[in-house]
Amino acid sequence: MSQALKSGQAPKIGLVSLGCPKALVDSERIMTTLRAQGYAFSRDYEGADLVLVNTCGFLDSAKAESLEAIGEALNENGRVIVTGCFGVEENLIRKTHPNVLAVTGPHQYEAVVGAVHDHLPPVPNRFVDLVPEQGLKLTPRHYAYLKISEGCNNRCSFCIIPQIRGDLVSRPAAGVLSEAEGLIRSGVKELLVISQDTSAYGVDIKYAETKYRGRPVKARFYDLAKELGELGAWVRLHYVYPYPHVDQVIELMAEGKVLPYLDIPFQHASPSVLKAMRRPANQEKTLDRIKKWREICPDLTIRSNFIVGFPGETEEDFEFLLDWLEEAQIDRAGCFEYEPVTGAPANDLAGVIPDEVKRERFERLMEVAQDVSTHQLAKKVGRTIEVLVDDVRPEENRALARSKWDAPDIDGQVIVENAAGIKPGDLVTVTVTGSDEYDLFAEPVRNAN
Ligand code: SF4
Repeated sequence: MSQALKSGQAPKIGLVSLGCPKALVDSERIMTTLRAQGYAFSRDYEGADLVLVNTCGFLDSAKAESLEAIGEALNENGRVIVTGCFGVEENLIRKTHPNVLAVTGPHQYEAVVGAVHDHLPPVPNRFVDLVPEQGLKLTPRHYAYLKISEGCNNRCSFCIIPQIRGDLVSRPAAGVLSEAEGLIRSGVKELLVISQDTSAYGVDIKYAETKYRGRPVKARFYDLAKELGELGAWVRLHYVYPYPHVDQVIELMAEGKVLPYLDIPFQHASPSVLKAMRRPANQEKTLDRIKKWREICPDLTIRSNFIVGFPGETEEDFEFLLDWLEEAQIDRAGCFEYEPVTGAPANDLAGVIPDEVKRERFERLMEVAQDVSTHQLAKKVGRTIEVLVDDVRPEENRALARSKWDAPDIDGQVIVENAAGIKPGDLVTVTVTGSDEYDLFAEPVRNAN
């Protein structure tokens, strides 16, 4: 049995993958989901808080090998979850190894991730998590979070991620691309690229080249986005900072290779607050950059998050932020009231803002954000667009879908009326018939013949 997790430390999983290439795709899919949810992986039994054994049950010899692997994991670690093809023979597994924590069958990503959550819960921390809280539940299988790096080289004063996760460690491009390919093979239609600082991808490994499909690919933000864009799924980029090299990626958006969507956690706009926050890519020219991006890709949607009530934030700073938000037309804005995080340098800053002022600023910001969102969405009415269906409500004859402008769990939806015959995971062409503050309303475009 492993030791209790230290605060902020990522829970660690060991993975033993047996069997055919399909089982390997399953293992990758499970790893991708867990990695995105903040879990780390251990190469040995000792360092793992729990071991997942992905089994094969095709032949008797494979069953024997699977039972042996489960036994070894139990001896070496003690906390074991079994999944994969042999999982359908739960009685046999439990007869031989009564102490396994859970048994799930093949292609049951949701069940195996659920079993991991039960026995090694994720440590939700909104200052650390990249996947929204709702996404910690069961991510539908038609979209997946793809984590391209760990840690961060920035040192924002309100953040402790570099202290607990360390400096940036980028994954080789070939590994990310193979994983993306595997996800698409397993039914994923949308890849949500995440990391603490996506635009810094590859800086730590000097943009090293790795071979993917026999040719070299650099671990560089643009190169990775371009390659991902060739795989045939929707590619959505999260946690990008407005560095100059992002301009090139906007061109990929204009070409339809990656979704015209950028999630940039600006956090503030006032130069003095940004300086106190020690934010990366903090340049006065950001508004000009956003204008230029919209010229290159008029369909671009920008999502961002803001912190109000940061120590020292004056009423002028806050009003500057409101004006900036309107001028930048940030399509989707989220907001937090500043809270100190144990261990963060910002805790020592003077000028603490009273709670009631923070609340009032939060409400004012959300009001402006709502106006901008309403205005931006109204411009989409009348257009014919493609949407990805997340859920269906047969009793209401409706489908809940998302356009290329909506990330799951954090943005609005496209509510499709007259949705008979539409299933979750379908890509459907619809005409936008209406809009409100956060959502669009639409009707499917049906072929006349
Ligand atoms: S960019 Fe700043 S806020 Fe984001 S993880 Fe790095 S240090 Fe933290």
